[in-house]
Amino acid sequence: MSGEREERVPLIELSGIRKHYGGSGGAPAVEVLHGIDLKIDAGEFVALVGQSGSGKSTLMHVLGCLDRPSSGQYRFAGRDIGSMSPDELASLRRSAFGFVFQGYHLIRALDASHNVQVPAVYAGMAPEQRQQRAQALLARLGLGERAGYTPHQLSGGQQQRVSIARALMNGGQVILADEPTGALDSGSGKEVMALLRELANAGHTVILITHDPKVAAQARRVLRIHDGRIVEEGVQGAPLPSRERDARFRDARPGTWGEGRSEPQGKDVGAFRLSNLREVLTGTWRTLWISRFRTLLTLLGIVIGVASVIVLMAVGLGSSERTLANLAAFGSTHRVMVWPDNDPVTGKWGQLSVQDVEVVRTVPNVEAVVPFNPRTGNLVADEHRFTTWVLATGADAYRVFNLKMATGRYLTEKDETELAPVVVLGIRTRERLFPDPAVNPVGRYLQINRMPFQVVGVLQETGDDEEDHTAMVPFATGAQRLWGSPYAGGIQLRVSDLTQVDQTVASIEQVLEQARQTRDFRVYANAVQVRSQNEASRQQGLMLALIAGISLVVGGIGVMNIMLMSVKERTREIGIRMAVGARQRDIQRQFLTEAVVVSLVGGVAGIVIGLLIGVALIAWGVPVIFSLRAMLLAFGCALATGLIFGLMPARQAARLDPVVALGSE
Ligand code: ADP
Ligand code: MG
Repeated sequence: MSGEREERVPLIELSGIRKHYGGSGGAPAVEVLHGIDLKIDAGEFVALVGQSGSGKSTLMHVLGCLDRPSSGQYRFAGRDIGSMSPDELASLRRSAFGFVFQGYHLIRALDASHNVQVPAVYAGMAPEQRQQRAQALLARLGLGERAGYTPHQLSGGQQQRVSIARALMNGGQVILADEPTGALDSGSGKEVMALLRELANAGHTVILITHDPKVAAQARRVLRIHDGRIVEEGVQGAPLPSRERDARFRDARPGTWGEGRSEPQGKDVGAFRLSNLREVLTGTWRTLWISRFRTLLTLLGIVIGVASVIVLMAVGLGSSERTLANLAAFGSTHRVMVWPDNDPVTGKWGQLSVQDVEVVRTVPNVEAVVPFNPRTGNLVADEHRFTTWVLATGADAYRVFNLKMATGRYLTEKDETELAPVVVLGIRTRERLFPDPAVNPVGRYLQINRMPFQVVGVLQETGDDEEDHTAMVPFATGAQRLWGSPYAGGIQLRVSDLTQVDQTVASIEQVLEQARQTRDFRVYANAVQVRSQNEASRQQGLMLALIAGISLVVGGIGVMNIMLMSVKERTREIGIRMAVGARQRDIQRQFLTEAVVVSLVGGVAGIVIGLLIGVALIAWGVPVIFSLRAMLLAFGCALATGLIFGLMPARQAARLDPVVALGSE
């Protein structure tokens, strides 16, 4: 490096720089810079003076790597700018240049201190260090008390001093000032010029652009630019010897290019990712807070989407769970029923018999099977009367119906073969016929349709209304003594293995049809109903997902809308950030983060609101089961929405040309 310096490579070397605008899309190309050759050494204080429209700003944009020349070569510290990538240019802007614009170009949402810190954020400086340095620079520029003020709370002169502090934040080896006094009153203008002189004295390379010859006269070297050409040059006095240089900005001076960069050595921006993230997040929060009403409206789509998924899922899950729980509570999930039906050919109503029960019994996976004949009967015990279902069935009904005895015994095979006039009472029937709890009904007699029956047992409460109101008699007793009909109203059975239920149903259909030579019956399995209930709730879930999807898309479009507006409104801010060294991916990350934060806030709000509605429904007695999966799903969708719909605006922002972005109002 030292060898290079002995050859005195100029800091800035332009040769044959041309710049034209237009030339595409029908607009005629207009050349603004017509081949500029220029050398500027490190430490020079140069003024570029020329009339309005002469191409000064265009030249400054080229010098500051905000814009590329149409042709010609630009070497900065010996390096060819033309071969640099956008990121390398951003790095150069960040570490070598400090811009001072006529319009200050401060970020409106940030206070003075944070405005000054922006270049250091992109350079990856630690937050505390950044803050201290910004404070120190502002103090030296007489703005120590104003660090917390936002631009609109500051005068023009103060804003310009903030922008000078920002230019110095990363060292500001080369200060590029485009009409820095143009918008200021003469007093403030003088102050700003005095500052630039001090910076030049401290060793900064200062390039001052102005239309005012009096302002230009304060520089040591004056270049006149006229109609895109440098036509005149004048040097007034030699640079000050270094010992006379003003020490005030010495530590703001990074040394010569290549010797000491202001960017932390060996630490890429990625090294401070966490603090970067924090910076991006606080910036995001500030921006969203400023437009909070609009943000809120945008959030609504996502909030409604997420909340509705959670509530609908919870209600759906709750009600189907309740149905299943009911079936399980009666132990009836394993139950299969055979009912008579019309003969498909003759239309005759089928009559099931005890033989059919024996046929069904041969089917594998049938654990217990009974004939089943429910008919109303008039029951009388002493002075108590009760008309209810009398159920004629087999001894195995105990297993098929999953019954339990409160007292006494259940019907037996012996009762069946002996046509025994015995009865087992459901708990409600017992209460109606033997209301005195002190009386044990077992062994007592009652009449069913005027036939005497002896009570042999009382069932425990099952929770099933029909079973609790029943009076059970042996099937044969019912058939022969009570009704004089050998047929069964139906057949009920219990399967052992629930997973085999479909095959079992098919087998029963097959063997019964074979035995009866007709299909005048139907087989129902509770499990199949459970499954169709599950199927129904699955379809309901799909519907919910669809609704949720639609509302999230609507929310996403809202996010995209807000982000696109935000990019439009903040184009100048993007330009400023790029000018101070933000890379495309920094800009993209910033806008993507904003989109994701909006979606995350929407997602969290949606979850909270969904939970609140769910709790309210519980209080209302609606069965609700919150599903963590649904919550995670909805939240994940909200996040994805932010990412997907934020990507386009973020890319759009990142692709903006620094000069174009800066120029927008
Ligand atoms: P100065 O800063 O000296 O006032 P500029 O460099 O801003 O001048 O502009 C020089 C010329 O280039 C002007 O005639 C201006 O109209 C033209 N010009 C500048 N920017 C653009 C652009 N983006 N597109 C087309 N013409 C431009
Ligand atoms: Mg200009």
